[in-house]
Amino acid sequence: MYLNKHFSEVAESYLFSDIAHKVAAYQAAHPEADVIRLGIGDVTLPLAKPVIAALHKAVDEMGDKATFRGYGPEQGYDFLRQAIQKYYAGRGIDLQLEEIFISDGAKSDLGNLLDLFAVNNTILVPDPVYPVYVDDNVMAGRTVKYMSATAENNFLPMPEDAVDADIVYLCSPNNPTGAAYTTAQLEQWVKWAKEHNAVILYDAAYECFVSEPGCARSIYEVAGAKEVAVEVCSFSKIAGFTGTRCGYTIVPTAIEQDGMSLNKMWLRRQTTKFNGVPYIVQRGAEAVFTEEGMKEIQHNLDYYRNNAAVIAAALDEAGVWYCGGKNSPYVWMRCPAGMKSWDFFDWLLENAHVVGTPGSGFGPCGEGYFRLTAFGDADKTKEAAERLKKAIASLQ
Ligand code: PLP
Repeated sequence: MYLNKHFSEVAESYLFSDIAHKVAAYQAAHPEADVIRLGIGDVTLPLAKPVIAALHKAVDEMGDKATFRGYGPEQGYDFLRQAIQKYYAGRGIDLQLEEIFISDGAKSDLGNLLDLFAVNNTILVPDPVYPVYVDDNVMAGRTVKYMSATAENNFLPMPEDAVDADIVYLCSPNNPTGAAYTTAQLEQWVKWAKEHNAVILYDAAYECFVSEPGCARSIYEVAGAKEVAVEVCSFSKIAGFTGTRCGYTIVPTAIEQDGMSLNKMWLRRQTTKFNGVPYIVQRGAEAVFTEEGMKEIQHNLDYYRNNAAVIAAALDEAGVWYCGGKNSPYVWMRCPAGMKSWDFFDWLLENAHVVGTPGSGFGPCGEGYFRLTAFGDADKTKEAAERLKKAIASLQ
């Protein structure tokens, strides 16, 4: 046998295990310390009641010969695809049903989509970056180029004519920085992709957090984007499906190259390598888009938004630069007193008993920055924000 040698080129990821070890060691040495974790990107609120009711109903259907379902369509049931079509139509975006594919989550599709592209494509990703984009491509032996996201560009890198790449990943609102592109900024990306015969893989996993006018929730808000962009989205953050697993990907019929249609290729890939998301889960996901589902989900999103606002207000009072928090559950702060990311991690754990994620773990441009998340308990977030503010004030 011959192994895929590119696996040895994938950087080991110690970020979250290093954090866990450091926190465990600190807790062992200081059992009395009430440590608050604002580090993880997982949701904490339970599934909405209309989702639970739909899941229960679907379970009962599976136990009855008359309503039992076996294999479903690989690309997803029409009831869910239609609900997604309507969700986009509500924002003025016209999708054909055949452009919508249901998946078991954004992470799988972000990797699986690469089956459609040759190894010699050059990849462009922002730095700092959600590490999955890089690792998926390194595993396949592709060359990855980085574009710097910095405070100067508000952590929203823009296209440069001189930079040549074939596949560009855009994540907006961004993990880890929380920064969100405006539709006008995405227009420039679509223009660049057309001029460079490139495709944009647009990760919209956090679109539900966009609240400011002008910020895009979908790349298809840009005219002509359907010719160059695939959009990957998820029920994880909008509806707490991180453990339930459901997502969707839009592969427009307009993307063609050398007489081949990306949409048809993806359909072929999915029908060959995937047997669909469980019927029960798809019924749960459908309930997200009902009136009652949306109402409860908006309430949950407001809970997280409020947490983000509490963290942002503490940083405002402490006079610390940050981005995100407004259209995103992530607040990306500059470490005070010029501290490096891991130094600030240690210092914050020691002085405030608060845990966050060192920005340097997401790429070299993340050095000196720190990610805080709004997915925690409201009271604990308030307490953590207060401690953060006091600790930073003690530095001055
Ligand atoms: N994309 C981004 C930017 C994420 O941060 C995450 C998860 O945290 C995902 C995709 C994965 O989403 P899913 O749970 O649908 O696989």
